[in-house]
Amino acid sequence: MSSDPGRNIPAPIKRQVRQRCGFGCVICGDYPYQYHHMIPYAVDPAHKEENLTLLCDKHHKKVTNRLLTDATVSAHNADPYNQHRDVTNPDPLDFSGAVATISMGSCEFIAERRDFVAFSVDAQPIIGFHYVDDRYMLCADLRDEQNVPLITIVDNELTHTTKAFDVERIANRLILRDRPRRVSIELEFDAPSRVTVTRGQFWMNGVRVWIDDRAIRIDDEAAIIDFNRFRNIPVGVSVGRQIPGTVSAIALDGGWRPQGSMDAVMDAVMDALRDFNSRHRQ
Ligand SMILES: [Zn+2]
Repeated sequence: MSSDPGRNIPAPIKRQVRQRCGFGCVICGDYPYQYHHMIPYAVDPAHKEENLTLLCDKHHKKVTNRLLTDATVSAHNADPYNQHRDVTNPDPLDFSGAVATISMGSCEFIAERRDFVAFSVDAQPIIGFHYVDDRYMLCADLRDEQNVPLITIVDNELTHTTKAFDVERIANRLILRDRPRRVSIELEFDAPSRVTVTRGQFWMNGVRVWIDDRAIRIDDEAAIIDFNRFRNIPVGVSVGRQIPGTVSAIALDGGWRPQGSMDAVMDAVMDALRDFNSRHRQ
């Protein structure tokens, strides 16, 4: 028997198992988990989807030590813990230290010993670091178009939706897909001090933010922000209303999405240009 048969399970089968089990241990919902062959691989050396389940390290060890029966595992496999929940159990991240960096689309937001928000929409922080008791803790609120939270991080406690098409965790990366081969959000956690929004998109109040390795693009490229570096700035980029009492390095008031009618806005622009012309005309 190979020492780690899970390593050779084809990727599409792993994904089906994750989807069926709700991206967590079928008994307790926890991450990290392993792919467990309910009929041992030594007995049936095949990777059949229906024979695989997810077990966290603790429950996997209990099965190995015969402290948990196959019948109990099968019962939980038939009714996985996370299938009764919209979000996963909190998974603690290990951010700490006195300097923190958020990297998004060729932009970097860096701060030392102070709270900061890298990105906000309508006064709501999307991603930032909270500095408390001499250490940094990550906070994030990444949602889909319907305003449903996809990934939420509150003071280093990570939860994600169990309703995604797929959530894959590979080492320090979290990849959430909303359909086959389409990454919704990919994050990379480099404890103790850096998080990268590698690619993907998120929404807040109808504002779409799309990130790749080159830029942060807002609302179908109404604004593109790239190659900026922000240091010790309370709020890096804010779209719409700013967080009360703060200042932002880049504040986009959302001119491409006026609250009133676009005609009224265009009239005001025309008036301003008319006024300019009359003042400068000889
Ligand atoms: Zn477990």
